Amino acid sequence: MYFFIPTKIYFGCHVLKEFGKEISKYGNKAFIVTGRQSAVQSGVLDDLLPLLESMQIEYTIFNEITENPDIKSISRGKEAFATQMQGQRQALPLHDFIIAIGGGSPLDAGKAISIMAANDLEEKDIYNTALHKKAFPIIAIPTTSGTGSEATQYSVLSNNETKIKAGFGNELMFPKLSFVDPKYTLSLGYHVTRDTAIDALSHLLEGLYSNKYNEFLLPFICTGVKLIFENLHACLADLQNIKYRHNLMLASNYGGIVIAHSSTTLQHSIGYPLTTVYGLSHGLANGVVMKQIMDLYEPHIKKRLDDLFSFVGITKNQFFDWIDTLELQFEGKIDNTFIEKRTPEVMKSRNMTLNPFEVKENDVIKIYRELGSSG
Ligand code: NAP
Ligand code: FE
Repeated sequence: MYFFIPTKIYFGCHVLKEFGKEISKYGNKAFIVTGRQSAVQSGVLDDLLPLLESMQIEYTIFNEITENPDIKSISRGKEAFATQMQGQRQALPLHDFIIAIGGGSPLDAGKAISIMAANDLEEKDIYNTALHKKAFPIIAIPTTSGTGSEATQYSVLSNNETKIKAGFGNELMFPKLSFVDPKYTLSLGYHVTRDTAIDALSHLLEGLYSNKYNEFLLPFICTGVKLIFENLHACLADLQNIKYRHNLMLASNYGGIVIAHSSTTLQHSIGYPLTTVYGLSHGLANGVVMKQIMDLYEPHIKKRLDDLFSFVGITKNQFFDWIDTLELQFEGKIDNTFIEKRTPEVMKSRNMTLNPFEVKENDVIKIYRELGSSG
């Protein structure tokens, strides 16, 4: 049994203002990785840029990261990290560290850019962790309550050409510092709030499912699931409520701490093609198969699941009813081409070794077929 999170996590309102001076430990040239809008909409840049200026930290903003970051944007980030604006190649990196701001997409992109730049990797080598010998320090500022990427060693990337989405992990990618402030999630709308919370819920449940589960994780799993169960509907009805935002962000951070140990399982592997092929958000892709996955795993982890529901004070049936109230819809039709092409990908994804029993191809096909026929 072990517990290891090397990230210093500051959690709460205004943590950046209070503890942001620690950023200066990592150098005086920051490379900021963001999406197009969220770093502005969330208010992070309004807090961060004056702080950096007050510490004489220079910065470049790289805002080209889109949802489910494409490997090509990581290459562009690597070039921008290491190259002068005029395009001149430099012997020395132009930046000392990375500040990644956003949902899981920019956070994961920041991690991947750090690894790619530090090891001068090409795109084809990004998943070859044997080549990942060093990384530039990463500082994470999440703006969604979902992935927990601010507390994990994972980066999940997509290839927009092959439509394959896959993650990799390396302890070098744990952020050095994370500033987790629920006020940065107040600008999230209904659907991103719902879907990201479902992603966090999935991480917490997968901690329980994984064959790398250990008892250190139990308090995080139980408390996290209870927080989501008790706060998600309230938050969806009152998106500006900082107390509900606080509770969802805590649960999301717990989910990150959990999967940093347990990793994810079939639940995530089966969801990736639903995102790349049908365009479902990451959280929704997990959510639409959540009940089927729990049914599949239940006989193998019954005691853990019973203990969880007893802690939350509900039954499994009540939990299923609650999921139904969230109206997580898959509107596509799963056809044979999808099944034939995507099932083998799911079967060989890295998370499949972590299921609580040996999942067979037919189990995956059955879940996809049930999903498609209900759409
Ligand atoms: P996301 O893809 O980062 O963002 C979703 C959308 O929300 C984007 O349009 C984004 O805008 C917007 N947004 C983010 N924060 C906002 C805010 N505060 N206000 C207004 N809009 C905001 O969503 P995510 O669900 O957090 O991340 C999903 C990705 O993380 C997936 O690729 C998933 O596979 C990965 N993931 C990683 C881990 C891990 O451990 N590393 C775990 C689970 C999932 P912009 O485009 O402007 O940013
Ligand atoms: Fe996830």
